Formats: sequence, structure tokens, C-alpha cells
Amino acid sequence: MAFANPFDNKEIWFGVGSQDLYGEEALRQVAAQSAQIVDALNATGRIPVKLVLKPTLKSSDSVKRFMVEASADDRCIGVIAWMHTFSPAKMWIRGLESLRKPLLQLNTQHHFEIPWDSIDMDFMNLNQSAHGDREFGYIVTRLGIARKIVVGHYSDPEVADHIGTWARACAGWDASNNLKVMRWGDNMRNVAVTEGDKTEAERVFGASINTWAVNELVGYVDKVKEDQVKALIEDYKAKYDVAPELLDARYDEMFVAAKEEAGMVNMMGDYGTAAGVDNFEDLGTLSQLPGVGPQRFPSEYGWGFSAEGDWKTAVLVRIGAVMGYGLDGGASLMEDYSYNFVPGHEMNMGSHMLEVSPSIGAIGKPRLEIHPLGIGGKADPVRLVFTGAPKKDAVVVSMSDVRERFRLLMNVVDVVEPEGSLKMLPCARALWKPQPSLKVSAECWLRAGGSHHTCMTTSVGREAWEDFARIAGVELATIDEDTTARGFERDLELSEMVHRLDNRH
Ligand code: MN
Repeated sequence: MAFANPFDNKEIWFGVGSQDLYGEEALRQVAAQSAQIVDALNATGRIPVKLVLKPTLKSSDSVKRFMVEASADDRCIGVIAWMHTFSPAKMWIRGLESLRKPLLQLNTQHHFEIPWDSIDMDFMNLNQSAHGDREFGYIVTRLGIARKIVVGHYSDPEVADHIGTWARACAGWDASNNLKVMRWGDNMRNVAVTEGDKTEAERVFGASINTWAVNELVGYVDKVKEDQVKALIEDYKAKYDVAPELLDARYDEMFVAAKEEAGMVNMMGDYGTAAGVDNFEDLGTLSQLPGVGPQRFPSEYGWGFSAEGDWKTAVLVRIGAVMGYGLDGGASLMEDYSYNFVPGHEMNMGSHMLEVSPSIGAIGKPRLEIHPLGIGGKADPVRLVFTGAPKKDAVVVSMSDVRERFRLLMNVVDVVEPEGSLKMLPCARALWKPQPSLKVSAECWLRAGGSHHTCMTTSVGREAWEDFARIAGVELATIDEDTTARGFERDLELSEMVHRLDNRH
């Protein structure tokens, strides 16, 4: 059950606005040039989802039909609108009001340079997106419809990159809206931030979050066939440095861990879930707290996983895994653990007792090891131990339930090499320098009520999450290189007001 390409069979529909006024010849040129632009964008290799050009939109009825069809078609995960000519925007109202897919407004044009010596009225009439896109921008803003805006010539790689990142966010949104999350057990007792309104989460993210008895998982694990376990162990041996004792005296314990992975995978497969979460306080008769299995969910299956009943982070990890598909790096549960306050070397160390995924990249090969775990009262769990690979402009994202809505909080961070051996630490970890600094980042994080659990993504960065949050209509507060504690506090107050007043969602 490998990580299936989430962009396969998905499409972004490309709608070009015009009107009948221009006559047959001009409209023929509009269609031909639009096709050339879409072909060129598809050929860049920078946009992971195929752009599909639809017939030029020349009337209110055709716009309405286009938007209704885009909204209903499961393949279509987003709509790009571009006004080649002038397209009076009242004709877009009924269509835009019925659009249920993410929208991107592309402000481009066919010509790169003003044809200084040959430009005449005919040319200007045909190529007036600077004009037409303003009319379109007005109506989208007036209707209060969220959209990404990308400006630039279609041959500019930055334009394709922005569209590509948005396409990834569209795929994340599509995945979120088709996501089922399997919870084994409830949230860790007495923890506040891992709680949340699951019914509201289904309304906002489309994700269905439900609980299954741990006994059912125990039943799945018991039924796993030996062949499946042995295939997993071969996969461990191929991808990781397996500690010699696991291949010898403690082989049976690795066998149990692999059997647990297989049981979880089989159960999630049967129920069609793409994210899971467990709780070390509620393991029934499982022998080990699952370690290596869930660590492999994001990297091997593209699934989300989180610990201690934190389904919100499991949702984020699934979305992050989908958005980052095919790029270097990936998504994982992360948890802030320890600061380094040494001047000039300020950093944060994240980890978890077991569940951090090698999806985010590792320095060297992850090692499969077995060590005791002080909590949970179970047998020693088998887990992957590694240090996250350095990566500039990675992000950690948290979701907290702030009573009447969800708040996403993101910090742009640079994952760095550790400055010591960490040889006594029996779990996966990553070190990072938070932007703009450890002190400002932590102060802002605490101010915003962000979780100690986050989704770290080293594949996609802030822009994909910004696009995702805009599509979802969810608050996103960002701590980056330009953040000041004072400014952030003020922005948070404004954001609080905006999101309480906002009745679009
Ligand atoms: Mn935790």
C-alpha cells in the first residue's frame, strides 16, 4: 500500500473570460493564445496537476455552467480564471456564487513586451488583461470570495511556481475533504490542546474523525499473516540500519513491531482511512506502543499520524504529506522539547517519544532500535532513531481549537545540524532555528496559543500552507523572519476580530 500519487487523475480547470462583442476572429485568437499559454504552463514541469483549458467564457450562462461543472467534478480540484480580453464582471456573479472549488486569479498576458512600433487599437483590444483582470478582481473582492492572485508573464518560472504551489494546496484541500481519521482511544487524559471539536472539523476541513476500539486493532494484529510481517522486515532492512540485536536475540520484538504495523495498515486500509492516532494510555493488549509503524505512515503510505489522541495534528500531517508529494522532504508529527539558549547558537529541539517520521529527511540512514519506554507499562518498543536533515525555510504548523474556530499557527524555521552527539537520546529528533529568533518565535507561539504538537513540513513551506488556509477559510497566524513580538500581538488582535466578524464560512 504505497503512497499513491495524489495528483493523478486530478485537474485544474482553466477558464478564460471574454465576451461576444469582439467578433469571431478575435475570439479565435483568444482561444488559440489561451491554449498556447496553458500548454506552456503544463510543459514547465513546475505544476504537479494538469491544467485543462475549457472553452472561452463569453456569457453569464456559460460562466455559470463552467463553475457548476467544476464544482461537481471530482477530478477538478481548483479553477484558474484569466481575462484575456475585457469580460464584464456582472456575467461572473452567478457562476462565482456557485463555485465550490479553490480559485486562482491569474493576471498574465500573451505578449511579454509592449510591441512599441506595431501596437494599434486592434492589438490593444485583443490583449487587455491588465484591464480585464481588474474588472474581474473587483467582482471577486466584492463577493468576498477567497482566491490566490498570481501576477506575471506566463513564461516566468515564478508564475508557474506560484501556480504549482497553489495546485499542491488544492490537492491538500481535496485530500482533507476526503479524509477519514482513525482514532484508537481518546485523547491523553487531562491534556487541553489536543482536544477539539470533531464535528466542527468535519464542517471546516471535510475530514471525518472517528474512534475505533483498540480491541479491534488487537484483532487485526492477531490476524496478520507471517508473510506480510516478513516483507515489512525486509523493507526495514533495506531502508534502515537495523540494530544487530534486533536481527538476533531480540528478533521476536521486531517481529511484533512489524506485526503491529501490518495490523494498523490492514485496519486503516479496510476502513479507507488516511490518518491515524493512538494513545499510550489505551493500548488494550497490544504488546508495544506502536513506534516504527506509525513513523512510516507519512513516508511509506502518505498517511498522517499523531500521538496521544491528537487527531488535529494527524489531519495536518496528512495534508502536509499530500501537498509535498514528490518533493524532497515530507511531513511529520513534531513536538517542541528543549531549547539551546547559548548566544549565537539559539535553537529548539523537537522530538517525540517514538512517532517522528523519517519522511522529513534524516542525516544518514535512520537506525531501527529497541529501548525501554518509561511510560505506558508495555514492552520495549521498536523505533526509528535519526536526526532530521538540515533544511532552510521549513515550517512547523499547529492547529488549536480556540472555542468558536480553529487557529492554524505556523513558524518558519531552519532545520540545522545538532551541535553535539545526542547519543543518549533513543528517539528521532530535529534541531531548528526558529525565525526570526528563538525568543521572539517562542513568545509569539505562546501568545497565539499554539500547540506543543506540530506538523513539520520540509517539502512545502509557508506559501503552500498560506494557500491551504485561504482555501479552507481558516485563520493562519505566521511567525517569520519579519515578525516582531509587538506587531504579532497587534496582528493577532486584528485577526481575532476579523475571524469573529467573518461570516463567509
Ligand atoms: Mn506529545
